[in-house]
Amino acid sequence: MKYISTRGQAPTLEFEDVLLTGLASDGGLYVPETLPEFSKEQIRSWRGLPYHELAFHIIQPFVAGAIADDELATMLEETYGVFAHKAIAPLAQIDHNEYVLELFQGPTLAFKDFALQLLGRLLDHMLQKRGEKAVIVGATSGDTGSAAIEGCKRCDNIDIFILHPYQKVSEVQRRQMTTILADNIHNIALEGNFDDCQSMVKASFGDQSFLKGERRLVAVNSINWARIMAQIVYYFYASLNLGGPDRAMAFSVPTGNFGDIFAGYLARKMGLPINQLIVATNQNDILHRVMSANKYEKHPLAHTLSPSMDIVVSSNFERLLFDLYDRDGVVLADLMARMNNETVELDSQRLAKARELFDSYAVDDDTTVDTIRTVFDETGYLLDPHTAIGVKAARATRRSETDPMITLGTAHPVKFADAVEKAGLETPALPHHLTDLLSREERYKVMPNDLSAIQSFIAQEVFGQ
Ligand SMILES: *Cc1c(COP(=O)(O)O)cnc(C)c1O
Repeated sequence: MKYISTRGQAPTLEFEDVLLTGLASDGGLYVPETLPEFSKEQIRSWRGLPYHELAFHIIQPFVAGAIADDELATMLEETYGVFAHKAIAPLAQIDHNEYVLELFQGPTLAFKDFALQLLGRLLDHMLQKRGEKAVIVGATSGDTGSAAIEGCKRCDNIDIFILHPYQKVSEVQRRQMTTILADNIHNIALEGNFDDCQSMVKASFGDQSFLKGERRLVAVNSINWARIMAQIVYYFYASLNLGGPDRAMAFSVPTGNFGDIFAGYLARKMGLPINQLIVATNQNDILHRVMSANKYEKHPLAHTLSPSMDIVVSSNFERLLFDLYDRDGVVLADLMARMNNETVELDSQRLAKARELFDSYAVDDDTTVDTIRTVFDETGYLLDPHTAIGVKAARATRRSETDPMITLGTAHPVKFADAVEKAGLETPALPHHLTDLLSREERYKVMPNDLSAIQSFIAQEVFGQ
């Protein structure tokens, strides 16, 4: 499988290089040159397969040539073997024909485990084969950092440095990162905010001389293609468990960087019958404003009760625009440049085409809390604030009563106690594999907001001098 950049000017790459590359050299994002397509008959034949076997069928075409089939199969079995629920992605029913797909059964209790558990293993495998070692540097306001650390803790060929804003992440979120004591895991608490953490990461990718040309720097944020690839699988899994592919479904997706919902869009292009995809946002609603009013305009960041969806721009939206603009990299490069600087209106016919599949809806904090309360009162089922936004958007924009409506449950409510308490409900206990989290030994380094200090620390840890 070959991969091309959305801006048309970067070299075409094989999977192996896409995995190890972040942004394309022209500033674009890599996408597959062609997608595998599956017939209904083929999809039907996967009914009843365990999650990791289904994942093999869907992922194999994307990595063919880079990873041997038996190695991929083993990797997938190990990846999903660490999940706490044997179904990996169980469905919970919250109303007639309405479901939550629980994507929070992984080690860090959020859906990012689906991709990052696999990504760590893929990277380590590829580096081992090449006889190389890599350094991952990432910034986190919560979920991504812990999922990346969990995904890399057994990787022999990777050192991972995660920067979080000192005293600005919740105790559970911090401890999910800092209690992983493997030698290749390095937690930095930066005296600054999340943007400062991100600036450090960006600057380090821009000038990698602190790694002396001896180590490669790898990105694990949601622009990494392999993350999207892993997320396609659970759309198939959910559908197959509710009568797919002989029945079409609707999915509502709590959205920040548009990675998760883009995977749903790809699942549909690969042959899965999906009639509706709902972009559910919090008050950071740039995607809702462009979908509903054709106005792409950056607003200042708002801090909400659903912090994992607090974004100003949505990086993976570019991958959808690439298709909407007939995969014309030159046109897209120009559009992206304008979107960076000014308010932009999309071509109305192209947007209309997107709206045939996508709906959008924005949910404020009060409504998020009300939804948590309402669903709990109706069913006794406790939603986290991100998932609650998905459920609200699903109920507000649903097109069909007969197609099952599936909201992606992106996090476990225990991670977001604020919102649960605001709904007047009790925070649930930590799942049993985490019950001693609050008493485990922690390891992290508090550091000043100073790039050269951070980079020398990384070099010192990696090269040991
Ligand atoms: C990351 C995250 C999201 C947003 O996912 P995107 O792929 O960025 O759209 C939603 N909910 C939770 C809990 C997350 O951690």
